[in-house]
Formats: sequence, C-alpha cells, structure tokens
Amino acid sequence: MSTGVWLVGARGNVATTAMIGARAIAHGATSTDGMVTERPPLTNLDLPTVESLVFGGHDIQAGSVVDTAERLHEHNGVPGRDALDAVREDLAAIDDRIVTGTARNCGRTVADLADDAAFDDETLSLRDLTDRIRDDYAAFRESEDLDRIVVVNVASSEPMPTDPGQYDSIEAIEAALDADDPDDPLPASALYAYAALSEGHPFVNFTPNAANALGGIRDLAERESVPHMGRDGKTGETLLKSALAPMFAGRNLRVVSWEGHNILGNRDGEVLEDEDNEAGKLQSKGGVLDGILDYDTHNRVRIDYTPALGDWKTAWDDIRFQGFLDTQMKVQFTWEGSDSALAAPLVLDLVRLLAHADAQDEGGLQPHLASFFKDPLGVDEHDLSRQFDRLYEYADRHAAEKGGAGDGS
Ligand code: NAD
Repeated sequence: MSTGVWLVGARGNVATTAMIGARAIAHGATSTDGMVTERPPLTNLDLPTVESLVFGGHDIQAGSVVDTAERLHEHNGVPGRDALDAVREDLAAIDDRIVTGTARNCGRTVADLADDAAFDDETLSLRDLTDRIRDDYAAFRESEDLDRIVVVNVASSEPMPTDPGQYDSIEAIEAALDADDPDDPLPASALYAYAALSEGHPFVNFTPNAANALGGIRDLAERESVPHMGRDGKTGETLLKSALAPMFAGRNLRVVSWEGHNILGNRDGEVLEDEDNEAGKLQSKGGVLDGILDYDTHNRVRIDYTPALGDWKTAWDDIRFQGFLDTQMKVQFTWEGSDSALAAPLVLDLVRLLAHADAQDEGGLQPHLASFFKDPLGVDEHDLSRQFDRLYEYADRHAAEKGGAGDGS
C-alpha cells in the first residue's frame, strides 16, 4: 500500500528535516535513531516503510526545500553534509509537488512570511479555499498513484480563535465557513483539517494550532471515521517534564515551583515572539504539570527568541520541591536540543501510525498516540511512561491479532 505524506508547511524546518531523514534512510545514509516506530514492539505492526513514503505539501513562502536544507546545514550542522548530498535530488523532485497554501487568518507575523501568491487568495471565500485545498490533496494522490495520503500540519504557530468553544459542532464549522466573518475568523489550520477529514485523509496536528482541536472538526472526523491526532509535538522541555513530574508525584515530593525558560533561534521562535501566536504554545506546554500533580503550584513557562541559537533550543528549568520534615530541595536542568532533529522522526512515526489506523478502519482520535503530543486530544493522562504503555498495548494487541509475537518490551 503506497502512502503519501502531505506536509502543510513543507518548506519549514521540521518538514524539511523529516523529508531529509526519510530519504537519507532510503539511501542508507543515516540510521533510524530517534524513530519510535523503529523499536519493538512497534516493529511488530504492519506499517508503511519509511523508504516508500512519497512527499508533497503546501507552503506560503517561495524558496525551496533544498534552500531550507542548505540553511539548516550551514547554520546548525544538522543535517550533516553526507546526508544532505545523498538526498539533494530527491528534495528537488519533492519541491515540484509543493503548492501554494493559504495564510488566511494566521496573524500578522505569519502573513509577513507569505509569498504574494498566498495572498492572491484574498478574493476567495473560505469555501473556495477549502475546495482548492481538497483539490490539491486529490491531485497529489492521483498523480502519485497513492492508496492513501496522511496530511500533517507542521506550519507556523497561528493565533488561537478568540472563542474556540463556538466551533463545537459540525454545524458551527459549516456556518463559520459560510459566514466567512473577518472579525471572527476560522484560521487556516482549521481549513486544512476540514478539507483533509471531509475527504477521508488522516490528519496529524503537530502544531499548537486550533485545527482538529476544534470540537466541530473532531466531530467531523468521528462522523467520517477518519483517524486523526494532535496537538503540538512533544519534543523537548515538555517531554522531560512529563517524564520527571510523575517521579515527584509518586514519591509524594511536593513541587512548590517549576519555572521553565526556553530560548530558541529559528523561525518558529521568531513567530512565537508575537504574543498572539505564542498563546497557543504556552497553553499546550502549561497543561502537562497540571495534569500530573493534583494540587496547584507555581508553574510558569517562558519562550524567548534568541537568533544566535538557530535551530537549537535551550531550556533551563528550576524546580523547587518539599519533602519529609518540610525539607526544601531543588533540581535544575539544562536541555539543549536540535529542534527539528527531535521533531522530524516523530512526524514520520505519526504518519506511519495514522496510515496503520486508517488501514484498520480505526477512525476518530488515536489516544494511544498521546506520548507524541504536549496536549494530546481527548487524553487526560500526561505521565509519559503511562502514555508509552498505551502505545505498546496497542502494538501488542495488533501483533496478537495477526498472530505475531508482541512482547511489550
Ligand atoms: P518553520 O517556521 O521552520 O516552518 C513553518 C513553515 O510553515 C514555513 O515554511 C512557513 O512558510 C509555513 N507556513 C506558515 N503558515 C502556513 C500556512 N498557513 N500554510 C502553509 N504553510 C505555512 O517552523 P518549524 O520549526 O518547522 O515548526 C513547525 C511547527 O511545528 C510550528 O508550529 C512549531 O511550533 C511546531 N512544533 C515544532 C517542534 C520542534 O521541536 N521543532 C515541536 C512541537 C511543535
């Protein structure tokens, strides 16, 4: 079964690194380290191979995937020169399959990134735009002769709608598409999600954007029985938080204060300088601690743009906690991660797992994928190891069903 990957934000860092990685694996130019689906028990699932994935996508800025890849190499050293040279021709071919998306209602900062062509659509209604997006998905599937496509949103963070609750039903989404109200708009991420799910294409929201987090879009996925999941990939500080916080909870060590300060220098960091765009990210990062500790604590996250860091992200966390005899103690850690190298393999994992769910007719939200997200839709469990257990149970169950040997290890 051939699987297409349609990346919304295809010329961005995460998308480009995912495509470089997949093609470098295909050419034997890199390992599969970092990919969850390449270790047991996930290897017991019938997943599409990484080598066979076919890429295309939307973006709103000109340039090319090769340009993004070169920039990543020069400024960050990731990808390395050998991997980049091995995939350069593949990336150029993928670039021919990237078409102009829409920056409608993504806020000023994202609008400033956009190429003029993305704004020619100002005369188009939201209905026209969703039709155009649907046609783009269909053309990709047809031209590449694909059995299915998985749509992944890895576009820039956009401002959240002022009242997401108003989009809690399919009827409300349909009405908002018809109303096209400039004062209370549906953001682009919702248009991409609506177009994908109404056409039966599995959808991943790797961003903090509204997209399939809106109740009406979730209902649409249920009605059409299409698998989808989100939101906001869990790759760095929040990943660590969801591993560490259960330790304090389990030992009844009271967290008095958890202060996290993130600095990053890529375009995502630049976009997050805009308070409107940052709000969704702070919301998805902030919920993890509240979801693990059963009491209120000082819990603050900051994100600052520091251009010199390029695609590297540093997080400093300062945790104050109280133990027996009211003893005050502290943990401080520094996390230094290559942002896109952490995110890209998860994008490939999610594509493979959503393709699997689609092949098994498992529509709707995919709670076993909670470990991949900061704010897993429909899941209250934030403890990382329990989230992993759920993923392994899923793999073992499917392996058992097909008579394989899932060992849950
Ligand atoms: P980036 O700025 O490098 O790439 C984003 C791309 O999306 C750009 O090419 C931009 O032109 C394009 N874009 C913006 N709005 C668009 C729209 N409406 N339609 C189509 N394309 C659009 O950012 P990145 O570092 O690749 O991150 C991508 C997303 O993934 C961000 O939302 C980020 O918050 C999220 N994310 C990243 C990580 C990580 O570890 N890197 C973790 C979790 C979430």
